[in-house]
This record gives sequence, C-alpha cells and structure tokens, in this order.
Amino acid sequence: MQVLITGGAGFIGSHLARALLERGDRVSVLDNLSTGSFENIRAFAHHPLYSFAIDDLRNALVLDRLASEADAIVHLAAAVGVQLVVERPTETIETNVLGTHAVLAAARRYRCRTLLASTSEVYGKGVKAPFSEEDDLLLGASSRSRWSYAASKLLDEFLGLAAYREFGLPVTIARFFNTVGPGQTGRYGMVVPRFVQAALRNEPLTVYGDGTQSRCFCHVRDTVRAIIDLLDRPDITAGEIYNIGSSHEVTITELAQTVIERTDSRSPIQYIPYSEAYAPGFEDMQRRVPDTTKIRNAIGWTPKYTLAQILDDVIDYERSRLGSGDHFHFTPGGRQL
Ligand code: UDP
Repeated sequence: MQVLITGGAGFIGSHLARALLERGDRVSVLDNLSTGSFENIRAFAHHPLYSFAIDDLRNALVLDRLASEADAIVHLAAAVGVQLVVERPTETIETNVLGTHAVLAAARRYRCRTLLASTSEVYGKGVKAPFSEEDDLLLGASSRSRWSYAASKLLDEFLGLAAYREFGLPVTIARFFNTVGPGQTGRYGMVVPRFVQAALRNEPLTVYGDGTQSRCFCHVRDTVRAIIDLLDRPDITAGEIYNIGSSHEVTITELAQTVIERTDSRSPIQYIPYSEAYAPGFEDMQRRVPDTTKIRNAIGWTPKYTLAQILDDVIDYERSRLGSGDHFHFTPGGRQL
C-alpha cells in the first residue's frame, strides 16, 4: 500500500512512517516543518520506499500529485500544543479547517482511504469519565481561545463524516488522548517531555494549577498500531469515530513525582497558576479518560505499554540527546518531490 502522511515529519507521523516502512508499505510525507522537524525523519530519509515533500498542505498541486499516487491518506498535519493554540488562534483555525478541506478534496478525486486525526479536546469541559464517541460535547465560550482548537477539529470531523455520507469516501476519525513517547517536543506545552527534560537537568518541574488534574498517557507505538489497524479495515471503520488512548489515569502531581523517581532526580516540584502558564481566564480539563470499548470491539486494539514503560522510553531518548549534545542541522536528502 502507498500511504501519504500529512504532517509526517511530526512526532506521531514519523513513528507511523517507520512502522509502515517496516511492514513494506510505501510512504510519502507532506510536511511544512512548522512544528515537525527534519530530525524526525532523518533516519529513513534515504529509504527506497520513502519520499517527502516539504510544502504546505494548501499547495494544491503538490497535494494533488501525492494523493494521486496514494491508496490511503493519514491526515496528521495540524496545529498542535495548547500553548501554540492559545498564542496563535488564527493560524490554528486556518491550518486545521483549510488543511482538512484540502485533504478531503484530494482524497475524493482519487478515492483514497482517509484517516483524520482528531483529539480528546473535542470532549471539551465535559466531566463524564470515561468519554465515549457518542457523548455530547461541551465546549467553553468562544471568548476563550483555547476552545478554537476543539471547535476546528470538530469541524474537521464533520467534514470527514460528510464526505463519507455524501460521497462514499472511506473516512475514519481517530480521537487521540495524550499520545506521548520518544521524539515528542516539549516546545509547545506537552507535559511529559517537559518534565523529563527538567528532571534530567535537576531543574524544577513546573505543574500548572494544583496538580490534581489528570490525564491518561498513551505510548505513540500503541497509537500508531491503532492507526494502521484502522486503515487496514475500511470495511469496518469507514464513517466511524474511534477514541485512541490509555485508561490508566494519573494526576499531574503523580506524574511529576514518578518522573523524578525514575530519573533519580533532585528536582523540586513547583506549582504555578494557569494564568501565569497560559493566559488569564485559561480553562483546563480536569480529567480526560477515554472509553476505548468501540475500537477494541471493532479491531481488537488495546494499549500495551504501561506509564512506567512510556516514561522510561522518553527518559532514554532525552538522556541520549543530552549526552550527544546533538543539535539539529538541516541536511536535505532522500527523494525530494
Ligand atoms: N502541564 C503542566 N506543566 C507543563 C505542561 C503541562 O502542569 O509544563 C499540565 C497541563 O496544564 C495539563 C496537563 O499537564 O493539565 C497535560 O498538558 P499537555 O499540554 O501535555 O496536554 P493537554 O493539556 O492537551 O492534555
């Protein structure tokens, strides 16, 4: 199978590319390197089954050409990270909605099986746990820019489902819950790489709010397996939405303590108010637990990695970067499109 990954130089995209190449699929990547990086794809840039284009999704000619060669498209390109979303809401909305519109139009022209990445953010401020796919969604006021991310991803979901219903395009929606693992950057607010990097330097781990908010962290390798298995079964998964995540819940204070323990760090934990971390009036989600019954029943997927294994993988990765003093240099290679 030939798979086009938009956002393929990002954290999830590069892990997905690796897994697809390992099983013999051809992979093409379209990424504008806005939040992705060449470092993520360097390892297989010269792989004979791999090609990449550094361009924006809104370059219709490039997208059209890549879609024309693809059997399937995994659309991961999106604005990511709460911090980025709060700071640059216009870019977030345009990237998400116009990007998905462009991908679906190209997919329709060439009848590509399509998987759209969505997010647990769409559940908004709902207090129910766990969240399941048919639940009502409760977003905050539009005066709070955080919710523009959820609203834009929700519109993406509606666009995808409309393409399935009106035009029979086999579209599947995946709602990711806090995917983490080696290679994720802490630059846009993600808590796990930030805590691990701070702990390895014996610097304070900064918890926002009171630390009682909780999350369920899913290893990127589990997430990637779910994406591939969903793609492989369009007969079951077309027109459907699936939660992808772990059900092991941990508070952010417990996460900080566990990171300190597993890195043998002397870091203290420091608490700062949300208003200082983001912007005044920022609203966080207190809990975010996925109900994954639907994906388990459909394709038998359950996450395999524990939180301890996830953290150890991230710690090893961050340690190796500290040790090597590795700095990113842009060295184009591979088959440029
Ligand atoms: N968080 C934190 N310190 C950080 C980064 C994040 O305490 O340095 C908190 C954040 O407020 C949230 C949780 O950790 O409650 C998870 O944040 P992340 O940005 O990783 O994911 P999301 O908010 O999308 O779940």
